[in-house]
Amino acid sequence: MWSLVALFNIWKMVSGSIVFLLSRCCPPDVVVFPHCVEEVSALTKVCHQHRLPIIPFGTGTGLEGGVSAVEGGVCFSLRNMDQILDLHQEDFDVTVEPGVTRKALNAYLRDTGLWFPVDPGADASLCGMAATSASGTNAVRYGTMRENVVNLEVVLSDGTIIHTAGKGRRPRKTSAGYNLTNLFVGSEGTLGIITKTTLRLYGIPEAMVSAVCSFPSVQDAVDSTVQILQAGVPIARIEFLDDVMIDACNRFSCLSYPVTPTLFLEFHGSEQSLKEQVNTTEDITQSNRGSDFQWAQDAETRNRLWKARHDAWYAALALRPGCKAYATDVCVPLSQLPQIIVETKEDLIENRLTGPIAGHVGDGNFHCLMVVDPTDPEELHQVHLFTERLARRALAMGGTCTGEHGVGLGKRALLCEELGSMAIQVMQGLKDTLDPHNMMNPGKILQPREL
Ligand SMILES: Cc1cc2nc3c(=O)[nH]c(=O)nc-3n(C[C@H](O)[C@H](O)[C@H](O)COP(=O)(O)OP(=O)(O)OC[C@H]3O[C@@H](n4cnc5c(N)ncnc54)[C@H](O)[C@@H]3O)c2cc1C
Repeated sequence: MWSLVALFNIWKMVSGSIVFLLSRCCPPDVVVFPHCVEEVSALTKVCHQHRLPIIPFGTGTGLEGGVSAVEGGVCFSLRNMDQILDLHQEDFDVTVEPGVTRKALNAYLRDTGLWFPVDPGADASLCGMAATSASGTNAVRYGTMRENVVNLEVVLSDGTIIHTAGKGRRPRKTSAGYNLTNLFVGSEGTLGIITKTTLRLYGIPEAMVSAVCSFPSVQDAVDSTVQILQAGVPIARIEFLDDVMIDACNRFSCLSYPVTPTLFLEFHGSEQSLKEQVNTTEDITQSNRGSDFQWAQDAETRNRLWKARHDAWYAALALRPGCKAYATDVCVPLSQLPQIIVETKEDLIENRLTGPIAGHVGDGNFHCLMVVDPTDPEELHQVHLFTERLARRALAMGGTCTGEHGVGLGKRALLCEELGSMAIQVMQGLKDTLDPHNMMNPGKILQPREL
């Protein structure tokens, strides 16, 4: 049977996570470790009966404090549900339980010639990635979780079990009814507990090449990105790091790239198509004053390069020992990207804030990793004002503050402005229908009074 453990110190063990909030840590009252969907459902019914908050927990790699139990309650750690079920190689799909991480799935798939490409850097659980609609460095080619989740099994707040695309179904397309799957993708544990996800898989590319290219200015690097995409190069990864970020990565990962705005790129395909992609990309970057192109085809060098990119968060933190990091997260239409990054850098310099910039620029998405002294109220205030300005700038350009890292400061105040009050009311109506007692992850709910 399930283990019901009411111990605060167990919470600390479970949450060996890097969750950072600018506010205090909020542990739950109880942590439970169900082994199957029936146990999740039974436990949820107990919570429902006693009106206890429910906080689903994947691997705790979310950076915006989504697993924080601001009202106490019961944390559902799903790590014991770690089975990979129903692999359909010929249909390119697989179903997994919530304790399966993306690295575990890819290790399992290694001999099949298939892989799951959505890669947020951290070894997150796939259901947690569905819950946060994770993206990552490969999103420019393969899409985010939203494009790659085919079906979900979800336990609602009263213990009811539903399948968003129908039980056992794996359709690539459906027009039957509302798109319930995408309602739950990105719902961050506020509508139900995801206990299974069916995912699209892809063939492992015949060949991969990575590259690093330096630029004299932010504008040149971002212009290159826009032109590479406009030229129709099916690039798999294109990541921007500003001079402060590349300097931090050099120090943290023992690299020696020039300290200027930089693009990390990766191409996937056949040998022939790689040649074409690489030639077009080199022409474009050279016309934008790109230099110091460094290519890597062997897996070891490529892995070192991408590990350095994925460690950017820790590299930023190492810039100011003792400080904490707060990641902003905005996304704008591609054409607006050069302007917003240039303006944001000017803002950071003018206000003397430490905020190295790293971005999935192929999607128009970038982060300022704000490194801040949590004991300095004036600095915290300045960071708060900066995030507000950044979010407003993004909204004015037709963009958004995405949920990946920064639901907190910038987003909360601007959500109403961004979506419109009617859209918020519709969301509230959905929430009231699925979770009438506001038990599911109540700390994440954007009550109208907060807006
Ligand atoms: C170094 C680093 C880099 C990162 N880069 C990226 C990036 O590039 N792109 C990106 O998108 N993210 C990125 N992230 C964020 C992170 O990896 C994702 O948010 C991840 O998808 C969360 O998965 P998890 O299993 O850790 O969920 P958790 O952190 O455990 O939970 C996150 C939220 O989802 C809910 N949740 C978790 N599991 C379930 C479930 N089974 N059912 C319902 N709700 C659930 C939780 O209640 C919480 O609200 C990065 C994180 C780190 C540490």
